[in-house]
Amino acid sequence: MSKHSPVLDNHGRPMNYLRLAVTDRCNLRCFYCMPEEGIKYLPRKELLTYEEMLRLCSVLASMGVSKVRITGGEPFVRSELMSFIEQLNQIDGIEKIHITTNGVLTHQYIPDFQKVGIKSVNLSLDTFDKDRFYKITRRNEFDKVMETFRMLMDYKITTKINAVVMVGQNIEDINSLVELTKNHPVDVRFIEEMPFNGEGMHYDKLIWNHNEIIDHIRTEFPSIERLKDPENSTSYGYKVPGYQGQIGIIAAFSRTFCSSCNRIRLTAQGQLKTCLYDDGVFDLKNFIRNGVSDDEIREAFKRAFNSRANDGFEAEKRRKLTAPSESMSTIGG
Ligand code: SAM
Ligand code: SF4
Repeated sequence: MSKHSPVLDNHGRPMNYLRLAVTDRCNLRCFYCMPEEGIKYLPRKELLTYEEMLRLCSVLASMGVSKVRITGGEPFVRSELMSFIEQLNQIDGIEKIHITTNGVLTHQYIPDFQKVGIKSVNLSLDTFDKDRFYKITRRNEFDKVMETFRMLMDYKITTKINAVVMVGQNIEDINSLVELTKNHPVDVRFIEEMPFNGEGMHYDKLIWNHNEIIDHIRTEFPSIERLKDPENSTSYGYKVPGYQGQIGIIAAFSRTFCSSCNRIRLTAQGQLKTCLYDDGVFDLKNFIRNGVSDDEIREAFKRAFNSRANDGFEAEKRRKLTAPSESMSTIGG
């Protein structure tokens, strides 16, 4: 437990979990996240500096945020990431640091994960087939990702695999991904595809929603058991009896988990998001570059927490201009 009790939002939900996107850049081009070409990366000065991130994190820690997930873009394409994480880990009140990565550059840093304070890793891997990996990510980096997976297992790092379920792309991988939990102590989490691909893709109904995914798994693994989910979990947990790892299904498009959502997001350009589906509720970068005090930052956070949308549908309705279409690389997942 954090020594600071978390600030509650206007719906009584504790605000104790920050997802921090440290960059909008990436070394893959997953089609569900980014267009293949024509991406306009932010100029460096538009990104929060590490010093600015550390300041915002320490203000948030004083308000009860105790868990931080580093994400992006691909976090490891930003230089000096490990030393930033080491400093983040020194902040009073930050108890758990996790990271989400695509695994391309990650393996070389794994021996130092424990030292800098990384508690667990979410590795994104949608398929075990090299050709399908190339089709999905548009880059030929499958072997490096698998090397990262092997090293995470060798170093006994708590690992979850994130797999986006995509019609016509990796349905044949679902059961092999479940099978991975037989001999490895990993959680494999299947994520509903969301409309954040940077191009605008709008659908009212998702074919491969959480119900379809579990029905599909049940045909191959009829004995799969439903687990009790931890508080504030966004995933429905399952386990095949006798297997080492577990399965999670994340209804990210259906948005069934909003009533217990404890997450806030900070984008690489310093926008505060209090819901994955909003388009930024406060520009922290410009605010702090105007020389404000920590107390003023705290007040700004409190105001934002006090007008949080009840759920992702309300957040989507409140968007200023457009329906969701931005790249997930600017949000961090
Ligand atoms: N680059 C890192 C990675 O891929 O792990 C971290 C950032 S990435 C945006 C975070 C997570 O969001 C990944 O697990 C990715 O699969 C997921 N993601 C990206 N676009 C998505 C989409 N349109 N729908 C669902 N999940 C998505
Ligand atoms: Fe890059 Fe991650 Fe987006 Fe794939 S999902 S393009 S790895 S940021």
